[in-house]
Amino acid sequence: MAAPLFVGLDVGGTTMKAGVVDDEGQVYAAVNMPTEAHRGQEFGLNRMADTIVNAVVAARIDLDHIAAIGVATPGTMDLRAGVILDPPNLRPWQNVPVRKYIGDRFQKPTAFQNDANAAAMGEFWIGAGRGSHSMVLFTLGTGVGGGIVIGDLILEGEHSHGAELGHMKIEITNPRQCGCGRWGCLEAYASATAVVKRTLEHLEKESLSSLASYVSRPSELTARDIFNAADKGDAVADKIVEETAYYLAVGTTNMLHSIDPDMVVFGGGMTAAGTGFLRRIHNHVKHLAFPVPGEKCELRLAKLGSDAGCTGAAACGRLLHRQQRQN
Ligand SMILES: [Zn+2]
Repeated sequence: MAAPLFVGLDVGGTTMKAGVVDDEGQVYAAVNMPTEAHRGQEFGLNRMADTIVNAVVAARIDLDHIAAIGVATPGTMDLRAGVILDPPNLRPWQNVPVRKYIGDRFQKPTAFQNDANAAAMGEFWIGAGRGSHSMVLFTLGTGVGGGIVIGDLILEGEHSHGAELGHMKIEITNPRQCGCGRWGCLEAYASATAVVKRTLEHLEKESLSSLASYVSRPSELTARDIFNAADKGDAVADKIVEETAYYLAVGTTNMLHSIDPDMVVFGGGMTAAGTGFLRRIHNHVKHLAFPVPGEKCELRLAKLGSDAGCTGAAACGRLLHRQQRQN
């Protein structure tokens, strides 16, 4: 293990994961525990501390060897205050002072970050974005998340709502409604949930497809089934995948024209579709974007998988540790 060592904790709606991470980004002894948010926030804070302790024990080191801790949680949150506000994925928690609790409990510098921002920092540090100066991450799962890292700075915004990339507007005239309640968001078109929904709508009109039988059992259809069917030449599935690539290319182009990054990385379950899907996105980007960023910005698949959150949280702890040493 390359000293100094850090702990990253990634709190999700169902499970939380902590890992000891060394100065080169190697993860040791990652430990998962159920979040059990319904048991309340006092229980939740204790569970976070226990998960951190368990990771340290599993790595066979002493807590004294940990230089800093990073915690990533889903929103909504006030990043400057270090507080989770009213997170839909962690009901009934409200106004939970995570950073102060963990900092006091362990007496360590403690960083606090949005989970998608942390994942972006993880990919930037030792994943697909390694070596880049600026990177945008789209995470494609049940929703569409995002993170932007420039230099070592996470673009968290003045109100903790920076890089909400899933909610950039891509359709104005005839918009779909998003899970956030607003209209025309990227997430309403390109999340795994949206891909399934769009496919089912299409199958209502066009039944000549290997996916046709899902109309009578819609809850069984997954984005993976659709991408697999497209790979096998199913015309309906191919059209849906191509349109999804187009929507993501619109989102990507908006990022290219906003910040002109070195790299755009796609993570999350839907990227199991692989490099063929990435190529489809890139082809559309080349037509939509200005020629120079359209050509020079690299598009890549994320590398860290489910470790991105806890590695990224640890990366945030590491940055805090470095800043404090410089001051
Ligand atoms: Zn939205």
